Amino acid sequence: MTSAIRDVAVVGAGPAGLAAALMLARQGRRVTILERFEAARPVGAGFMLQPTGLHVLDCLGLTGAARDLGQPLKRIVGREARRGRTVLDMRYADLARPRADGLGALGLHRAAIFQVLFDACLAESVAMQTEREVVEVDDGRPVDAVGRKLGRFDLVVDASGARSRIAEALPGHRAPLGWGALWATVPWPGAPFDPAALQQVYRGAAKMIGVLPVGRRPGDPHPVATFFWSLKHGDHDAWRSAGLAAWRDEVAALWPETQPILDGIDDPDALTLARYGHRTLTRPVGRRLAVIGDAAHATSPQLGQGVNMGLLDALALAEALAAHADLEEALSGYARRRRWHVRLYQTLSWVFTPFYQADGPGLPWIRDHVLGRMTRLPLADRILAATVSGLLLDPRGGRAAASLSDRR
Ligand SMILES: Cc1cc2nc3c(=O)[nH]c(=O)nc-3n(C[C@H](O)[C@H](O)[C@H](O)COP(=O)(O)OP(=O)(O)OC[C@H]3O[C@@H](n4cnc5c(N)ncnc54)[C@H](O)[C@@H]3O)c2cc1C
Repeated sequence: MTSAIRDVAVVGAGPAGLAAALMLARQGRRVTILERFEAARPVGAGFMLQPTGLHVLDCLGLTGAARDLGQPLKRIVGREARRGRTVLDMRYADLARPRADGLGALGLHRAAIFQVLFDACLAESVAMQTEREVVEVDDGRPVDAVGRKLGRFDLVVDASGARSRIAEALPGHRAPLGWGALWATVPWPGAPFDPAALQQVYRGAAKMIGVLPVGRRPGDPHPVATFFWSLKHGDHDAWRSAGLAAWRDEVAALWPETQPILDGIDDPDALTLARYGHRTLTRPVGRRLAVIGDAAHATSPQLGQGVNMGLLDALALAEALAAHADLEEALSGYARRRRWHVRLYQTLSWVFTPFYQADGPGLPWIRDHVLGRMTRLPLADRILAATVSGLLLDPRGGRAAASLSDRR
């Protein structure tokens, strides 16, 4: 079955690309990762691995390794800065049984998921070619920025992230988002912060601060957190010019408990600006091409689904390839399997992001006075927990899980 699709190139060594490479290698295919950097390395902020993402790691037999480094999370809490009112309180325990089977999320540092997946890829002899910036795929031939063809493959998997040049050539819905966030990895500040919760403080929808416990980096025993500050891309220069001291005062006024975190940030370059954009491909497939992860469906990370969606894509693709010897059928099967879940979460993200990142008082008022109360209605807590967990339209596959877990 695997002979027809033997040689696979995966473009990009992010979570989606590494997971796909690992699964396809474990199916007995010859896999090469093409990564633009000199050395493959983790990029980006710490994140929440939702029950969906944990399910995929489970299929790969890697949950234990991830849990060793990550921080179990039970809740997401959001407080309005002015009056201190809690406007968001999502508990994973609210998931309806039987779905609550050991569910919860894991806060993870980017280096941790990278290490876990990268080590597993090396153990499966996945080949890694670095300094390969792929901008196009021509019928199984990845093409780099200067027009060189980088081999011929039965299938190319584009996992090159939200700015994928390959995916740019495919039809889809695209819209720039004006908002992004500054983020930094900081030492875990300890009490009064809850180590089992993503905590956020809002002032309207124009100011948002977040503290996410993400466990520890590989090789480092000290726990860390990811600290976020919402910012429009266009305001970044003004933020720099205003100086760090003014910003620290503003954050501390909104959330005084963050003072120890702020005291440790003494250089504006310690905060990285993440720019968000929205893109949903109409069909995440092309000729000898499958597109997964942010390359296929980028959005603002407000719902905390991106890595998880990329892992689900990788699983769906691996299962479709296992189920169909014919590549066209396998690609159609992959696209079909992910279609509605991706569309639903892309829509939810599009609709709900402005309640957390926008100018003007209207949407945050609705968030604080209507949505916050609605979540106290019967069943609403479960729906909220299922939504944040990524479990609406339950996307978990894993029928081919036996072939994906470590064969040795
Ligand atoms: C501030 C912030 C917070 C977030 N929080 C969460 C969260 O809590 N939960 C969650 O699930 N998601 C979160 N996300 C979203 C998440 O980071 C992305 O959805 C996820 O990283 C996408 O994974 P990926 O593997 O598709 O792409 P990426 O992680 O972007 O990896 C792409 C890889 O491809 C490489 N590459 C890029 N271009 C090329 C090229 N031309 N040729 C070769 N290689 C290339 C890159 O170097 C990189 O290694 C957050 C994002 C941000 C910015």
